[in-house]
Amino acid sequence: MTGPAPAATSDDLLVHRDALVRASRHLHATGLVTGTSGNLSVRVGEVVLVTPSGVDYDALEPAGIAAVRLDGELLDRGASSPSSETPLHLGIYRTSDARAIVHTHAPWATALGLVRDDLPSVHYAILGLGGPLRVAPYATFGSQELADHVRTAMVDRKAALMRNHGAVASGGTLGEAVRNAEQVEWLARLWVQAAQASPGREPATLTDEQLQDVWRQVAAAGYQP
Ligand SMILES: [Zn+2]
Repeated sequence: MTGPAPAATSDDLLVHRDALVRASRHLHATGLVTGTSGNLSVRVGEVVLVTPSGVDYDALEPAGIAAVRLDGELLDRGASSPSSETPLHLGIYRTSDARAIVHTHAPWATALGLVRDDLPSVHYAILGLGGPLRVAPYATFGSQELADHVRTAMVDRKAALMRNHGAVASGGTLGEAVRNAEQVEWLARLWVQAAQASPGREPATLTDEQLQDVWRQVAAAGYQP
């Protein structure tokens, strides 16, 4: 018989590796990531499992998932090396209670980040992400500067947009992070399509008072926005 603690840890990591592969393929199928762009990670204790850089999602296998410690020390290269955006993932994990992170180059969110500094309250569902989202300033991909910009934009939020780059979403589970990434794209698409439908007129947004009413309704009904 094997000792329960090491076996559980190993099994746990395998489960998360499988889930990362499935989530990667799902996001690829929905178009939120294309080619080898975007990356996903899960935090398990002090270990962060992260998709490798430059590997097609179709070819990604559980054994190809890379692993680093929360302090950045490399544990497993996976199929190539940990994603170049690993510093971005680690920065969010070190400063929040996130347990999973999804970074995409989703087209509507990226488009909105080119023309605005925020994603405003176009729908009350944005409260599920913590409120209106910030657009992190541009910095070169993979840089600590970009990681710092995104970490700041994510304060008290479960998502942020990244100028001239994409979007990032977090969650308490990988499933939640994926749903949040999809929600960001849906909200961004609402704003952009509304702006396109009526050039010269700003899309309507909810007031602080209306958002407070939503919070009260959530508290009363136990309903998640
Ligand atoms: Zn990227």
